[in-house]
Parts: sequence; C-alpha cells; structure tokens
Amino acid sequence: MLGEIIDAILSVKGSTKQGFPAKYWLKLCDHNMKSLVKNAYLNLYSDATKHQNWASSVNNLWVTCYMSEIWINQGSLYKNKIVKILKNFFYNKYAQLWWEYIDREESKLRKYKTFKNNISLENYLLCTNDINIRREFTKLRISAHQLHIEMGRYSRPRKTPLSDRICGHCNSREIEDEEHFILFCHGYKDERDALFANLNSFTTFESLNTEQKFHFIMSYNEGDVEILKHQFNSLEFGAKPVFFNNQR
Ligand SMILES: [Zn+2]
Repeated sequence: MLGEIIDAILSVKGSTKQGFPAKYWLKLCDHNMKSLVKNAYLNLYSDATKHQNWASSVNNLWVTCYMSEIWINQGSLYKNKIVKILKNFFYNKYAQLWWEYIDREESKLRKYKTFKNNISLENYLLCTNDINIRREFTKLRISAHQLHIEMGRYSRPRKTPLSDRICGHCNSREIEDEEHFILFCHGYKDERDALFANLNSFTTFESLNTEQKFHFIMSYNEGDVEILKHQFNSLEFGAKPVFFNNQR
C-alpha cells in the first residue's frame, strides 16, 4: 500500500521531518549577527562538537546525506536548492529500500513487482471518488485478495502447498492466481468477455500476448486513466463487484 501512495508520504516527510529543520537552519544562517536568535544559534553551533544539541542534529542530517560540505559552509552552498536536494536524497533512499523489500524471495508482492514500475502516487487513486473501486483494485494489485494463491498461505494447521492452491470456480485444476483469475478462469468468462470487448474497441489489447495483457490490466497500461475508467465501467464495479471482488 505504501508504494501506491508514496508521493504523498514523501511530500509530508519532506516538508516536516527533514525539510522544515533545513529551511529554518538556512534562515538562521542568514540572520543578522546582532540578532538574539542568531547568537543563540552560534552558541549551539560552537557547542555542537562537544554536546548533542539542535545544531549537532542539523549537522547529522547533512552527514547522513553525505553532504557535510553544506554544514561546513553554513548554508552558503547550494542555497536555493537545499530542500530539493534533501527531498531527492530521501526519495532515492526510500526507493532503494522499498525495491529491496518487495524483491525478497519470500515477498507476497511477487506479482506487484512485475507491473509496478514507478514509485509514485497511482492515478487510479485520483480518478474516482468511489472508495470501493480504489480499495478493490488496490487489493488485487498488492495481492491482498481472496484468491487461493494467497489464502493458501493462511490455512491451518499448515499452509496449503502451492501446487494445491487450485481454483474452485472452474474445472481447470489450475492454481488460482491473479493471471488465472483475470485471463483464464471460466467462472468469470462473461465479465472477462465484456471487459476485453471494451478494451479492444479503442486499444490494441487483442494483439498483446498473455503476459502483456496481464500487465496491461493490472497497470491500466502504464497509468492511462481513460483505460482505467473503461476497466471500471466495464466491470460495473459499484453495482456488480464480481470480477475483482472475489467474495466467497
Ligand atoms: Zn478457475
């Protein structure tokens, strides 16, 4: 879920946790030498190497970002770009940790990482006010659904072996994963035919291979909001949440 709304999270963190102290520090650096607040800061500054204080925290911020020279120059370096530099640093740091996290062998986001290409706020979260649509599509994308491929993880007394997590909606004996559910399961043929007919009427969807079709739907063709709306409309999400909301 964090990956779906990451821009919002980073913009909040960027403007408070890291951005605000940096901006305030810059202001202090520019203050008149006669000002009381500037002198208070200079006291902290001279003490920062001996004791932990607010100034040493600002110093640590720059050390963390491998930009000690900004501290050494006391705000005179990259003056107008400092907050942007900070935000980029933390964005890249977060992105690196996030990709490493979802790329783990045991990650349940095994499908998600195949179509999630950018860490940014997803368009589908903005293109409809219907919370049901947003929730169901998010659940499908991040594998928080009720397909057997996931439910088998939680069966008791022990996990269902992967090869036994077969579909109960058709006679195929195939594993009920996201691809089977969206592209193959006979139990959802009517909904699928309606969706594919819609997509074929204004895209080249039909010419795609199986993997491309799956990615096209799960990523609404790299964020195309018009396609996404078509998907939602075709599925009559609000009135008939059958295709994505696989209730049992
Ligand atoms: Zn099936």
